[in-house]
Amino acid sequence: MIQSKKLQRRRQVLVVEDQELNRDILGMILEDDYDVLFAENGAIAMEMIQANVQTLSIVLLDLMMPVMDGFEVLRRVKEDEEMRRIPIIVLTAEKSAELQALQMGAADFITKPYDMHEVILARVARIIELSEGRQLIRAAERDPLTNLYNRGFFLEYADQIHRYHPQWRMDAIVINIERFHSVNELNGRAFGNSVLRTLGSAIRDYLAGTDGIACRMEADLFCIYCLHCEDYHALLNYLQRTLNDLSIRVAIRLRMGVCPGDNDGSPAVLFDRARTACNMVRGSYKTHLMVYDEDIRRKELYSQQLLNDLRRAVEEKQFVVFYQPKYDIQCHPPRLNSAEALVRWKHPELGMIPPGDFIPLFEQNGLIHVVDEYVWETAAHQIAVWCGKYGITLPLSVNLSRTEVFDPELEKTLLRLISSNALNAKDLKLEVTESAYTDDSEQLVAVIQRLRDLGFEIEMDDFGSGYSSLNTISSLPIDVLKMDMKFIQNVDEDTRSFRLIELILDIAGYLGVPVVAEGVETAHQMNLLKAAGCDYVQGYYFSRPLPAEEFEKLIIKEIEASKERKS
Ligand code: C2E
Ligand code: CA
Ligand code: CA
Repeated sequence: MIQSKKLQRRRQVLVVEDQELNRDILGMILEDDYDVLFAENGAIAMEMIQANVQTLSIVLLDLMMPVMDGFEVLRRVKEDEEMRRIPIIVLTAEKSAELQALQMGAADFITKPYDMHEVILARVARIIELSEGRQLIRAAERDPLTNLYNRGFFLEYADQIHRYHPQWRMDAIVINIERFHSVNELNGRAFGNSVLRTLGSAIRDYLAGTDGIACRMEADLFCIYCLHCEDYHALLNYLQRTLNDLSIRVAIRLRMGVCPGDNDGSPAVLFDRARTACNMVRGSYKTHLMVYDEDIRRKELYSQQLLNDLRRAVEEKQFVVFYQPKYDIQCHPPRLNSAEALVRWKHPELGMIPPGDFIPLFEQNGLIHVVDEYVWETAAHQIAVWCGKYGITLPLSVNLSRTEVFDPELEKTLLRLISSNALNAKDLKLEVTESAYTDDSEQLVAVIQRLRDLGFEIEMDDFGSGYSSLNTISSLPIDVLKMDMKFIQNVDEDTRSFRLIELILDIAGYLGVPVVAEGVETAHQMNLLKAAGCDYVQGYYFSRPLPAEEFEKLIIKEIEASKERKS
């Protein structure tokens, strides 16, 4: 039979005894099983322990000795960071000394005279086993970098606290480093590690002497489970200051999410919530701390419900497309030019849900294409229906989310819609928000270019809200600029806004593309834009987004006006 070799390391034992006879007896008892070292007084013992601190498995220590007695050795060993892990069995003839030695940290005792050899061997073996077991456990429960607990141990420990002290009000705190990835990349891993260690030890200092526990959950994510505190800002500031002191050269920013204990949430639930709160301040320049509250909870539940309901909504056709007209304002009177398709969700329980509630949510969860493809299809079909009914082609714009631009099927999908409804590509205009251009502009520009080559017109949405530089704009393939509505909505309050509008019109002129002003609500705003040379207006001044049947009235009105013009 093949058997793997068992490597039995012979443990090292130090016997500290001033009586030679006793040393000999102990040596005899132990030497078959152990490597035995000897010291005849406390001072020599200290030197030997120091010299063999990595290898010693146990010390058998006489209490009564000249030069330095056993109590002093015991005290010094237990005070030392490194030596304290070595278990000590005290050797004594006096009952009265046992208690004191145990209180000072001795692991066990053996009484003189040494007549029961088996008992002595058994005690030594058991104490070594216990102490090694404890060291193994300690290694398994700690994160070696920060010496905080690791994830598994921490969560188990937190559960125990919750189970055995249900009346304690414990907070869950999550701490994360902003863009730690870049900190590592720019300054090296060694620096990154020193940041993590510093943060770990600051957290340990904060918890010292309390019942709180902490761990490094993963990479740069730290968790604290501690008795409820009121001033989280003070904690965040303290930790932030510690990191500021670490380096004046590198700016390291912490963010923190807190879920205050409510006695009935399990630690896992509390930490989920604290993490949600922490993620909500990600990337923010102003706020670095968020406390989970009823409001966030409601929003979370609401989002979850919307995600759950999406599939049924598509099946039951709960999404409805509204149309908002764009008017050519350089004509007199202004003329209906085209419209934007805007989605609404007619939810059976929640009523009409505005797109702001679900579009960003579905974008984040990679589900937006489900809604958008439905909207594109509806809009393409609508163009064909109105064309058949009124003999005019009213172009419609649809919105493209950033993620869709990178969908390899995008061109195929759009071309299919065009051909199945017998349209021209230019009848279905595509709105792409400006911020999409700043993300991964090279790839985006390539896709947009291909779509334009196929005949689609591209409108840059929310222009002025992103950060595209004049430099990138001039190289972007676009057909229309849609000016962000904040410019026109601020125009009454501050005069600078009007200057900005003029500037955007100048840029569009330079690019040779027309401008659509969004969010126009008043005649005053409308007249300002007209005088400044803006081409098109979309806004409540003309009409809110309307369901198809109501929008038809605008088409009919337009047809009648055009007949009048001709007659
Ligand atoms: P957007 O593309 O910038 O659409 C214009 C938004 O401004 C619409 O809001 C519209 O109702 C609103 N609006 C129009 N005129 C006025 C006005 O005079 N005053 C004010 N205060 N608001 C005005 P809505 O329909 O709530 O849509 C919000 C955003 O949701 C849209 O912004 C767009 O980014 C997104 N969205 C809407 N429908 C879709 C869709 O089918 N697909 C995708 N991916 N996004 C959509
Ligand atoms: Ca739009
Ligand atoms: Ca817009």
